Amino acid sequence: MVIERINFLKDEINKANYKYYVEDNPTLSDLEYDKMFAELKELEAQNPLLISPDSPTQRVGSVSEKFFPHKHKYRLYSLDNTYEYEDLEDWYKKIVKEYGEQELVCELKIDGLAIALTYEKGVFVRGVTRGDGVTGEDITNNLKTIKAIPLKLFEPVDVEVRGEVYMPKSSFEKLNEENLKLGEKLFANPRNAAAGSIRQLDSTITAKRDLSMFCYTAIFTDNQENLPKTHYDSIMYLKKLGFKTNPNIELCKDAQEAVKYCKEWDEKRFSLDYATDGVVIKVNDLLVQQEMGFTSRAPKWATAFKFPPEEAATTLIKIEESVGKTGAITPIAVLDPVQLGGSTVARASLHNFDEVGRLDVRIGDRVYIKKAAEIIPKVVKVIEDEAHFERHVYTPPETCPSCNAKLVTHDDEVNLYCDNPECPAKVCAAIEYWVSKDAMDIDKVGPSVIAQLYNKRFIKNAVDLYKLSMQDFMQLDLVKEKSAFNMYTAIQNSKNRPLARLLTAFTIRNVGKETANVLASEFGTLENIMKASIDELACVEGIGAIIAKDIYEFFRKPETIKMIEELRELGVEPAPPVQNVSDEFKGKTFVLTGTLQNMTRDKASEIIKQMGGKTASSVSKNTSFVVAGENAGSKLDKAQKLGVIILSENEFLEMINEG
Ligand code: NAD
Repeated sequence: MVIERINFLKDEINKANYKYYVEDNPTLSDLEYDKMFAELKELEAQNPLLISPDSPTQRVGSVSEKFFPHKHKYRLYSLDNTYEYEDLEDWYKKIVKEYGEQELVCELKIDGLAIALTYEKGVFVRGVTRGDGVTGEDITNNLKTIKAIPLKLFEPVDVEVRGEVYMPKSSFEKLNEENLKLGEKLFANPRNAAAGSIRQLDSTITAKRDLSMFCYTAIFTDNQENLPKTHYDSIMYLKKLGFKTNPNIELCKDAQEAVKYCKEWDEKRFSLDYATDGVVIKVNDLLVQQEMGFTSRAPKWATAFKFPPEEAATTLIKIEESVGKTGAITPIAVLDPVQLGGSTVARASLHNFDEVGRLDVRIGDRVYIKKAAEIIPKVVKVIEDEAHFERHVYTPPETCPSCNAKLVTHDDEVNLYCDNPECPAKVCAAIEYWVSKDAMDIDKVGPSVIAQLYNKRFIKNAVDLYKLSMQDFMQLDLVKEKSAFNMYTAIQNSKNRPLARLLTAFTIRNVGKETANVLASEFGTLENIMKASIDELACVEGIGAIIAKDIYEFFRKPETIKMIEELRELGVEPAPPVQNVSDEFKGKTFVLTGTLQNMTRDKASEIIKQMGGKTASSVSKNTSFVVAGENAGSKLDKAQKLGVIILSENEFLEMINEG
């Protein structure tokens, strides 16, 4: 039994290795792979006689025959990994027991492709992939196209440097978008895109892909004096020699501090423009590293803590056609529930029916889903196995799944719409949006209550919510006096929300939370907005001619005028604007870039707006200030070029305090 399971796992892992390392086209998610790997390791530990030299636990990666093989002078290893903090603490305890307290270095684990670069007398002579750790592929010419790899160092040293070639997330998205248009292969993630791009036989293709490299290990091969004695110092030395090293390196005095670093980056990682799948924790003292040595596939002096994955593979059970508040029909992927980013995901976005067609996603397919910070997971790729081609091609619906009305398209939009104003699903979605956090924030009234109120004909639109009595709520299933009171009060308490919220709740075409804020701060009152001409609206920054027309037309519709009158009669009047405006912020445009340590970027934008300023997503000559957090990238460069004032996070905080 055990032997069969071991053989099964070995086979599956070897197949996955081939797909991942040679074809850059994985069919398993990393989590699925890591689980099988951990099970195999465990079974082999319990049955050491069954460990064979061809077991994936005894080897690293895989090498393809696409390039000239090159035998590494110094072997490249993998890393042991864990998803548990406890394992990290146990690993450290064992080290302390044998070698005493050790300083640790925490680095982000860059999710790319490991490369060894050789420099002779400071000149780049060769670059080789990790391959199976003993032999790799010589890809020197392709590596020369990467600007982050210096061809000549600032000092004429002999050194072998290891690092990770990666593709920025934004470039990966762009590449996949282009490939989608051209009907070419999609990459599952930035790592596969980087590996696929760097292992091109034609260097001109590699040169067109936006690749970069962070270096994280140095082996000095000449007998220089004063070589660094710690890992941290060797990274600083690499930087001095001209290599790009990751700025988020940190010294930690023990495992607890390392765990703190891991927790912090588990949250902050989404703000980076490169993928990181965890943290690598290394013993800092190079002599201790030497004493500790290696297992057959990994150093004993380092370990990787892996973040809950951003991506997972699962099966598509069906495509649900959901009717939105504007009548737009959105395809939603209903999935076999899967763990992703610390939660169970059973549904994911498919955007629109064009996207479904482009992805060629079919019911029953294995799909990759991806989650970024605060964004609902989306289906990014279909695994095109044999079964995929035998399944039926999905066709979009022709009629509304709720009211059966014929679906239509608007202008040149890709969405399908249900235009029936009485469509129950559409009406309920609009009411759900009205009560949502971004709009009137009536948190006690959820979708099931709305559905019941609508089905029992107590409400036919959001305005009717304000006509309900406590008794009405008590007629709903499972609603007792206390919750009836809470719902009734929550609705009453929402009557004087700020103007921006009411504008958001109106669901004006092309007007979301941001534009509603701009409108409210520019015009101050609902009357002023209702009176504004198209030209006056279009003059406001951030509102172009199209949105101005949408707003203008919305406030001229008889049903809008009737709704606003009714709301007034029911006592729904926006609170007068709060005057919290500071001279330093008033009318100024801020661009936020990099990671802020003391608040999220959303929070910073909110404060800027509260104090009378505006935010923009890109730097131009109209930008007043750029607030640069850690790892600020191209926006900072552009600000410097244009001479825009750059504020550090501390200067920004001071400005808020003074304001
Ligand atoms: P790994 O990617 O888990 O870790 C080792 C590698 O981390 C090193 O070789 C190095 O390239 C890299 N690394 C990044 N930043 C680093 C830093 N700061 N310091 C040191 N090293 C750093 O190990 P692996 O052997 O490359 O691959 C195994 C992993 O790859 C698996 O755990 C799995 O997640 C994934 N994998 C997935 C599939 C699949 O089918 N989905 C197949 C094979 C492997």
